Amino acid sequence: MIPPLGRWFAKTRESGPAGSKWPGRLRQLDPLQWVAPADCLLCGRSVRGPVCADCSGLFQSASGKGCRRCANLLVSDHALSCPWCCRLRDLPDHLACGFYYRHEAATLYRLIKFEGYWPLMKHLLEPGMHAFFRIPFLEYDGLVPVPEPFVKKMSRFFNPSLLLADLLCARTGLDVLPVVGIRPFSRGQVGLSYAERRANARRRFFLRRAPPERLILVDDVLTTGATLEAMTAVLRAAKVRRIAWFTLLRTP
Ligand SMILES: [Zn+2]
Ligand SMILES: [Zn+2]
Repeated sequence: MIPPLGRWFAKTRESGPAGSKWPGRLRQLDPLQWVAPADCLLCGRSVRGPVCADCSGLFQSASGKGCRRCANLLVSDHALSCPWCCRLRDLPDHLACGFYYRHEAATLYRLIKFEGYWPLMKHLLEPGMHAFFRIPFLEYDGLVPVPEPFVKKMSRFFNPSLLLADLLCARTGLDVLPVVGIRPFSRGQVGLSYAERRANARRRFFLRRAPPERLILVDDVLTTGATLEAMTAVLRAAKVRRIAWFTLLRTP
C-alpha cells in the first residue's frame, strides 16, 4: 500500500539517517548515497564510508560472552547451556551471531532493511565475520538462506538472508544452496509467541531437493530461533548430519 503523499513526506522527516542534508527517503533518490554515503549514517560526521570507526566500534559483539553455546548475554560467561537454548528441541551443531540487535547496530540494520540502504549490508557483515569464522566452515558443504515468500520479497526488493549468503559466498567460496523452500502466503513470525512460532514455522518450510550432508543456515536476525529450528527439523529429516546457524544479529 502506498501511503498518501503528505504522510510519506512526514515520515521522511523522522526516519532519515542522522546528519543527512535531505530528509530520509528523498536522500535515497540519489543512488550514490545508497552505495557510498558521504557522511556517517549514525552520527552524521563527514567521513568516508557509511559508518565511522567510532560508531562501528559501538556495535556490540555477540561472541565470547554469555552462554558458550548460543551467546545469550543473560547467563554467566561459562554456562554451556541456558534457558534460551535448552528450550530448542532441534539445536544446531554450531551457532554464531555477529552482533546484538541494539543501539548502533540496530539503527544501521533498520536503515539497511527498511529504508532502502541494502547495499550497505556488507559494511555490517564485515566486522561480524569474526563470528562466522568461529564455525569450522570448511567442514560444511554450503550455505542455506532462510527463504522468504515472494510477496514479502517484492515488498522490500530483497531477501536479507539471501543477500547475506551471497556475501558470505563471495568471502569464503561456500556455495549458496537454496534447498529449503517456503510456502507462498504463509503467515509471518512477527508478533507470535514461541510456541506459536514453532507450530507456524513447521508448516512453512519444505524441501526443494536432496540436500548435502553438512549445511550452514543463514539468517539476518535471531529472535526466538523458531524459524531456524523448523528449517533444521526439515533438514534433519532429510538425513543432513551437521547443521550450523549463522545470524548477523541476535536479540539480547
Ligand atoms: Zn559515526
Ligand atoms: Zn544458550
